[in-house]
Amino acid sequence: MASTTLVNIDLQHKLPKVASGKVRDLFAVDGTTLLFVASDRISAYDVVMANDIPGKGALLTAMSVYWFQYLQTKIPGLKTHYLNSSLPSGIETSLTQSAVEFLQPRSMQVKRLSVLPIESIVRGYITGSAWTEYKKSGTMHGISLPVGLVEGQKLSEPMWTPSTKAAAGAKDENIGPDEARALIGDVAHEIERLSLQVYSVAAKRAEEVGIILADTKLEFGIDKENGNEVVLLDEVLTPDSSRFWLKESWEMHLGKAQPSFDKQYLRDWLVSKGLKGKEGVVVPDDVVEKTAAKYQEAYERITGI
Ligand code: ATP
Ligand code: MG
Repeated sequence: MASTTLVNIDLQHKLPKVASGKVRDLFAVDGTTLLFVASDRISAYDVVMANDIPGKGALLTAMSVYWFQYLQTKIPGLKTHYLNSSLPSGIETSLTQSAVEFLQPRSMQVKRLSVLPIESIVRGYITGSAWTEYKKSGTMHGISLPVGLVEGQKLSEPMWTPSTKAAAGAKDENIGPDEARALIGDVAHEIERLSLQVYSVAAKRAEEVGIILADTKLEFGIDKENGNEVVLLDEVLTPDSSRFWLKESWEMHLGKAQPSFDKQYLRDWLVSKGLKGKEGVVVPDDVVEKTAAKYQEAYERITGI
């Protein structure tokens, strides 16, 4: 049994499990607090791979914490769900040493909120599903773009391009801002504003260390106990949720794949083997190692740690 599974079973004796996503497991600490645990699982094209990327959960947690703290210093008034990086008090005594060692670096305590049912994507560059759509119809999330763009090109300004948040097993669909407003109402305006702000602050920071933040996917919730405040939640600005490109070689690679520090390497491998969207794929050791190294490099460059 994988270590992730063991810890889950261990922990469930102490804290009820609230949800298990493709990558994260959420446990209730009390009525308003969750233990948010990033496993070492990796998903691509909405499917989880059969094997883990060792150490990935710890990197993603450390990176999210770095960004939550950084964003709060740069965006006055921004609310996030992050509370602290400790395990709930007293829990260590009832877990095995190895469970504690597994959990500690992969966990954060967060405020439990009501999650809005859209993925708030910001794109500064055209690639991925947006590029596929543009090639077909000249649009991005239904919005018309100038003709003649090439893959990887910088957009004239960063754009808010939300998607639906599909139920487990289903695929998120790209939608336009109008459809997002129809789904979640007027709060969409606030989410668009905050998302563009987060993108701009993060892109600037990434650029300082030679990285282009091509796009990123954020999630927001509503704090019903606090005047329906809009709160940034989930993970933020990690290689799972963002595309990080090497700035120095970006121009050279316009029109083709960009050297990147994210999931793209795994996505490309899946496509090359005809395994895109297939369940139960076992990722070979060399692809696991390459992916882990890319995640590590993103973490080191951005946090400087
Ligand atoms: P999803 O498409 O729903 O994100 P996923 O498979 O990506 O599914 P994970 O990212 O693995 O899910 O798990 C995290 C889950 O926890 C997400 O569904 C996310 O919306 C939810 N979540 C994140 N932060 C909070 C919070 N503060 N309160 C409640 N739920 C949260
Ligand atoms: Mg998620």
